[in-house]
Amino acid sequence: MYIFILKEYYNNFKIQKNNKVYLLPELPEVETISRGLKLKIIGKKISKYQQFREDLRWPIPTCMKELIEGTIIKSIARRGKFLLINLDVDYTIIIHLGMSGRLLIYNPFDKYRKPSKEKEMGIFLHTLVKPGKHDHIKIDFDDGSQMVFNDVRRFGAIDLIRSEKLVFHKWLSKLGPEPLSNNFSPQVLQKKIENKKCSIKAAILDQGIVSGIGNIYACEALWEAKISPFKICSKMTEQDCYSLVKELRNVLKKAINSGGSSLKDFKATGGELGYFQNLLSVYSREKLNCKRVLCKGKIKRQAQSGRSTFFCVNCQS
Ligand SMILES: [Zn+2]
Repeated sequence: MYIFILKEYYNNFKIQKNNKVYLLPELPEVETISRGLKLKIIGKKISKYQQFREDLRWPIPTCMKELIEGTIIKSIARRGKFLLINLDVDYTIIIHLGMSGRLLIYNPFDKYRKPSKEKEMGIFLHTLVKPGKHDHIKIDFDDGSQMVFNDVRRFGAIDLIRSEKLVFHKWLSKLGPEPLSNNFSPQVLQKKIENKKCSIKAAILDQGIVSGIGNIYACEALWEAKISPFKICSKMTEQDCYSLVKELRNVLKKAINSGGSSLKDFKATGGELGYFQNLLSVYSREKLNCKRVLCKGKIKRQAQSGRSTFFCVNCQS
């Protein structure tokens, strides 16, 4: 029996706890999971819903069982870092993976794959699982497959809302534009930040300004655009905004593409540094030489609003 873990296909922000590594999903990771789910669960009928606790980060709605059993998964989407599972009865399940949330798909009909080192990470098992430790929600489909929401640290969240009211949901209503959509542009960014006194890095991490950006992709895009993460928003020129929006998009697309490719060949990363790690130009490269051609600078790590910022002291001014 093959068990497919939709998360962890390439590495991201690492959180160490009890010698285990957890990954913090940003837009590209959630997009990758969304694409994986599209392949795996669209068209399936939910035959049984079970939950093994009343809350994750927030209470799990009490009406889940009643409203979703018997429905069919119509489509899957993403908004910012939220996964949206649309049901044929015009309800949408909203999922946020928090810090350590994972969606596990168990399919008895998937071709058996030879167990490997990943076995201990729970990727390969031989029977359908009984509820495991940290499995909080289990959905059975009528074809015998299952989807499990597993979350060690329980910062994840799930909610259910009528699809027509989705944009008014409290988690989604204040989200800024999707960075890869036409709603986001250098002009939009400049307008949103022109009077702000905070740093440009803090601004692009603000989900109300642009959605889905986390620490890694903020550092990477600022490096690509040669902009200091500490630059005050009101000092950002038109050219700065142009470069930053362009590089944000490039970095996100690159990450989505690498996630997609690792999804295809099932290169689960477990605790290892993943595929995208090789593509990082600045994040996690403290004290190493700047990768920019002809730049002799070194990468520095500095605390900024409680997170690590990585930047080149020479070329990001
Ligand atoms: Zn440099």
